[in-house]
Order: sequence, then structure tokens, then C-alpha cells
Amino acid sequence: MDVSSITLGEALTGLDRGDWSAENLVSALLDRIAARDAMVNAFLNVDAEAALAQARAADEQRARGETGRMLGVPVAIKDNLNVQGQTCTCASRILDGYRAPYDATVVARLRKEGAIFLGRTNMDEFAMGSSTEYSSRGPTRNPRNPDCVPGGSSGGSAAAVADGMALAALGSDTGGSIRQPAAFCGCVGLKPSYGRVSRYGLTAFASSLDQVGPLTRSVDDAARLFGVLAGADVRDATTVDVAVPGPDACRREDLKGVALGLPREYFAEGLAPDVRASVMAAVDACRALGADVREVSLPHTEYAMAAYYIVAPAEASANLARFDGVRYGYRAPDAISPLDMYCQTRSSGFGPEVKRRIMLGTYVLSSGYYDAYYLSAQKARTLIRNDFIAAFRECDAILTPTTPTAAFRMGEKTDDPVQMYLADIFTATANLAGICALSLPCGVNADGLPLGLQAMGPAFKEENILGVASALENAWGGPQGWMERRV
Ligand code: GLN
Repeated sequence: MDVSSITLGEALTGLDRGDWSAENLVSALLDRIAARDAMVNAFLNVDAEAALAQARAADEQRARGETGRMLGVPVAIKDNLNVQGQTCTCASRILDGYRAPYDATVVARLRKEGAIFLGRTNMDEFAMGSSTEYSSRGPTRNPRNPDCVPGGSSGGSAAAVADGMALAALGSDTGGSIRQPAAFCGCVGLKPSYGRVSRYGLTAFASSLDQVGPLTRSVDDAARLFGVLAGADVRDATTVDVAVPGPDACRREDLKGVALGLPREYFAEGLAPDVRASVMAAVDACRALGADVREVSLPHTEYAMAAYYIVAPAEASANLARFDGVRYGYRAPDAISPLDMYCQTRSSGFGPEVKRRIMLGTYVLSSGYYDAYYLSAQKARTLIRNDFIAAFRECDAILTPTTPTAAFRMGEKTDDPVQMYLADIFTATANLAGICALSLPCGVNADGLPLGLQAMGPAFKEENILGVASALENAWGGPQGWMERRV
């Protein structure tokens, strides 16, 4: 068994056949983490003893004939999702030492199916960022090239999966935080439709945009995890009770009878030539598989970044008000009054990007500016959503690049917040519209860096985009086939 390349599906098959045990899997991953993570810094915390104990328990369950869709599978969890008893810091100083008192619903669902929790993955503080450089615990490096960023904010999850330190990981996606790091590191990342997956136990960033989803090494693995994570939850009133397709319903051999849209606004100026070439080659592959490819238009795309960077900070400024030094984690010492304690805790507990978001959000919600900014952004959001509804009358899925460029170099955008924000230009629209979207690795550039294809689908039609991605992956010779597709 080579843990650096097997998929979650293959791990399960090997467990079923007795080729290896869950304990073997966890030990091999822990060895890999020990060898690699001092450089990559994908994990904030690894609880080796607890993971091995869970693995032994899973092996005993299997020996007793018990079953589970994830029985014995080690996964890594982004540090903004609660795993009972483990630290949950959102890579922020303000949550130093905080331990989750309960499991997030997604974690409880994985636990029920027998998954093993390997550790906590690094992220941009409170999921605000696109490079995992805004972590209070040091940046994560891209395992494919350590001078480059892994993307963000779920950069630790993507790097762990891409580098063979976890078979799969959970991330969260508010404006692209699953898909953009998946594209930069070369893994599959799925952002489910708004309302599909419970956010109970996810530390909220922007509640009208946040979704939890998987980062994996294959499309089938993403479909399997999606099947476990998705579904209504009484603890999250925004979840919707729509039947969840199983992995078989998400698999396609060809694309006959499938209409795919290419939005002209996503292939405009600013798109790097290597990304364009790789995505267009993937579009040709779709045609060869029988898809009917047509141009579509999403005319309000130009307002997306402005709308996102008003709505997301506005909601963040409200959600982050709870971190006041009283209820969670860190409290500044030596304060002379309660007000002084709040000020000192928040001033020294939050990093610069989080403070920038809180200030932006507070500003756009303040009286006198609310109509000019927040209300206008909500209107733009409605127009963007309507664009997608109209486009999906003409096609089953929309194909775009996931990112405008391949992974950028560490430090390249940290001094220029607007440049960092633009890393999400192709991904944030799906969050604004509430639709589902995934990133599939579609090739590598001359520097050996992965490139990502984004497939967007109508709300609650994850099978459309997983189907397209599975047909492509299959046509390319399996989950690692993209590595041979050089541009
Ligand atoms: N990079 C975007 C931001 O900074 C999106 C982050 C995310 O999806 N959590 O807001």
C-alpha cells in the first residue's frame, strides 16, 4: 500500500479484502506526516494516539462484521469544524486552547460511518484568505512546490490530501476556499449547494455563503463523502430535505446528451494562458465524450467580487462579535475594565486580515452606508443568482477555470489585499448564487503546478457536476491521469 497515492475508495476495498488494517493505514499516514509536515505545515494538531485507538476500534468492528461507509478511513478536518474534545482554533490566536465541546454534524455523520479523525488542518485565520498565509500558526506550503502557496483558506486540507498525509479532508467554502486550494494543490474539491450540508459546529464566517465539503484524490471519493455529509439536519435550519444522490448516481462513463455551458465572462482578460489552455483541452475532452458544448452568458459577473467583499465581511463582522474574551479561548491579561478587556483581547487576538474584514463589514452595515453598500450588494447578488438560473435553462453544468492563475508564490500577494481577493474571482459567484460547484485537476503547467477546471451545477444537482468530473477523470485514465496532461 502506498498511502501517498491510494484513494479513499481503494483504501476501503483493501480493508474489506483484508489487504491492510485501519491501523496500518493510520500508521502509514502518521509516518508520512512525520516525514513531510515539518516542511508542508498542513496540520495544526495531530492526535496520533487517539487516531490509532480509533483505528484499532474500527478494525475490531470490521472483524465483528459491522459495517460503515467510512469504516477505518482516516480523514483530516479543517480547524474551523468541531470534533469533540479536540482543539478548534480557526488558526486564530483568539481561540488559543479552545476545545470543541461537541461534534459538528458533519463530523458526527463521519463518526457514525466509522471514519477516523487524524488531526486538524491549517487554514487562513477564520477562513479569510486565499493562500493559508494568514494563519496565526505559520503558512502551509504547496507540496507540489514549497515556494508556492497551497491556496486557501482550506490550504492545510488540500496540502494534506495532495501530499499523501490524509486520504481525504473536510474544508469549508465561503467564496472558494475548498475549490481554489484544490486547484492549486491538485485534488478534487466540492462545494455543495447552499442548504445541502449542515453547518452546525462549523465556526461561522459568512452564514449566507458558508458550506462544508470534501477535498479528495478522486471524484468518486468526493461523491462518497458527499453522500455521508449531505442531508437535512434539525440543528441547521438552512438545510433542505432533498434526496441525496449516492455515489453510483454521480458516476458517468460518457457525456452523451449532456449540455455544458461556457460563460464568456470567465474566459476574458486576466486569465493566464496555461490555465486557459488546460481548461480548453478539458472542454475538448468533454466534446469527445459526447457533450453538447455551447457558449452562455452570466452578464452580471463583473459585480461579483464587489458584492462578495461587502456581503462576506458584513456577515463576518456580526459572526465574530462573539469572540470577546469572555466566552471562548484567549483573554488579554491585565485589563483594567471589561471594555478594556474586550478591546485588548480583540486587538491582540485577531490578525490583520480579520480586523480588516471586521472594519469593512462594520462600515458597510453602518447607518448612512447600509443602503449604498450592503443593500446594493444584495441586489447585485440577486442579479448574479438570476444569471445562473437563466444559464441553467440552457445547460446541465457550466465549465470555467477554477482560478485565474496556477498557484502563486509565497508572499506575492500578502501586501496587496485586493490582489489576494481576486484569487476568488471565478469561485465566489457560486456561493453568492447558492449553487454547487467543484474543482477537478485538469493538467499541469510547465512548472509542474496543477491547474483546475471548475464545474458549476444548479442548486441540489451535485450529480450533474460529479458526473461530468467522473467522465473526464475516467477518460484521462483515472484519478492521477491529469498529471500527464501538460500544457
Ligand atoms: N478567499 C475568500 C475570502 O477571503 C474566500 C474564503 C473562503 O471561502 N472561506 O473571503
